[in-house]
Amino acid sequence: MTDLTKDIPFALAAVASDDELPAEADVVIIGGGIAGVAAAYYLAKKRHRVAVVEKGRIGAEQSGRNWGWVRQQNRDERELPLAKWALGAWAELAGEIGADLGFRRDGLVYVSDDAEELAGWEKWVSMARGYDVHSRMLSRAETAALMPAGSDRWIGGVHSPSDGHAEPALASPALAEAARVRGATIHQNCAARGVEMQGGAIGAVVTEKGRIRTSRVLCAGGAWTSLFCRWHGIDFPQSGVHASAFATMPGPAVINGGLSTPGFTFRRRTDGGYTVSIRNRGRIEITPQGLRYARQFWPMFRERWSSSVSLGVGRSFFSGPEALARWDLDTISPFETMRVLNPAADEPTIQAALDALAHNYPMLKGIGVAQKWGAWIDSTPDAVAAIGEAPGVPGFFVSSGFSGHGFGVGPAAGRLAADLIAGDKPIVDPHPLRFARFSEDDVGRPAAM
Ligand SMILES: Cc1cc2nc3c(=O)[nH]c(=O)nc-3n(C[C@H](O)[C@H](O)[C@H](O)COP(=O)(O)OP(=O)(O)OC[C@H]3O[C@@H](n4cnc5c(N)ncnc54)[C@H](O)[C@@H]3O)c2cc1C
Repeated sequence: MTDLTKDIPFALAAVASDDELPAEADVVIIGGGIAGVAAAYYLAKKRHRVAVVEKGRIGAEQSGRNWGWVRQQNRDERELPLAKWALGAWAELAGEIGADLGFRRDGLVYVSDDAEELAGWEKWVSMARGYDVHSRMLSRAETAALMPAGSDRWIGGVHSPSDGHAEPALASPALAEAARVRGATIHQNCAARGVEMQGGAIGAVVTEKGRIRTSRVLCAGGAWTSLFCRWHGIDFPQSGVHASAFATMPGPAVINGGLSTPGFTFRRRTDGGYTVSIRNRGRIEITPQGLRYARQFWPMFRERWSSSVSLGVGRSFFSGPEALARWDLDTISPFETMRVLNPAADEPTIQAALDALAHNYPMLKGIGVAQKWGAWIDSTPDAVAAIGEAPGVPGFFVSSGFSGHGFGVGPAAGRLAADLIAGDKPIVDPHPLRFARFSEDDVGRPAAM
């Protein structure tokens, strides 16, 4: 297998690959992020013959690079049932598959210095009560007590005790292995170039290593989904933001769960270090795909990212998921020329988060950075994922566009996709997440992250 270590700047657990492609599968899953491998796991449990094709390594893109938050807090109402189901699944998965995914239900806290933001959270808390989700607003004094220094700034917060976190570097690999144990085949370094149609129906998935006959496909390609769909005449509005995060060396325990402020976000890992970043801080890069969907995305980007985002042209204009690309089923595709989307970490973001962390927690001053990485967060215009069948292409399902919060709902997204593909009763109402909504008029507004 090609060594992709230099493109994966964090300790990602390895997954064994199956050498031989099956001649036929009930379902071929394109993409080995959390959305793809969780669907593979639940389809294999339903005794479907599943093959997962991943152009690089399982979990090497967003699913291995995220903060690891597993949250209901501040979710869009359309995703809340999925988030609730996922929390239950995370709690059971370790026992079910016999592997530690690093899941701990030790709560998440958001603090703010902005009265309008707090009012939004308060509204969310009362909405969520209707779903039996019980978060609690924190007073100024309670918020101050959470931080030993720099606390004058925070006027309040919200605590969601039933939320938690898991380890991104472990979770997707463990789910892929669990799917494999239940009969799925996993093919890494194996890009899907396209889907072959036969008489209006899906006939096969063509990969760089050969064809797999199938009548059902799940495209869970993360940031690459729109490009893959477009090649098949399927329009999926998707755009990305470049974000950065880092892992510290082990340090003194100052919190258990996760805490987010406007200046830094962090959570304690099981190895005693912290995963740190800054919420909603990123770089929107102008790309051909971004320009194509600019009108649809502008309201969401303005609302969610405008306060701390920069805009510019970078390498992503010329290569990667949002660049212009042409290929055939028998020529090298863009998915092979970039095995792992590995943007560089943004140094000013890393330094700003480190400074803010040390300012609020002097005990962590001077803590070392163990690993740092950039990542590409893929988004839809309403910042909610699409899970369902693409209109007009029977058998072509999509699970993508998780808009910066797909890790936590990953197991539920996988189960929902598996239910829809299998034709079983879905775990939640799939209508609010349907793919077709982007060509309708009722695309809702995004919730705060
Ligand atoms: C910095 C950061 C912090 C985040 N924090 C959180 C958080 O705390 N909590 C949370 O819930 N979410 C978080 N997220 C979001 C979360 O990581 C993503 O929503 C989620 O991982 C998306 O999973 P995915 O499977 O859709 O995509 P990915 O993990 O990106 O996987 C897609 C896979 O498809 C493969 N692929 C694409 N095209 C092809 C092809 N043609 N053939 C074969 N393989 C292909 C890619 O190589 C890739 O491995 C964060 C994201 C980032 C970047």
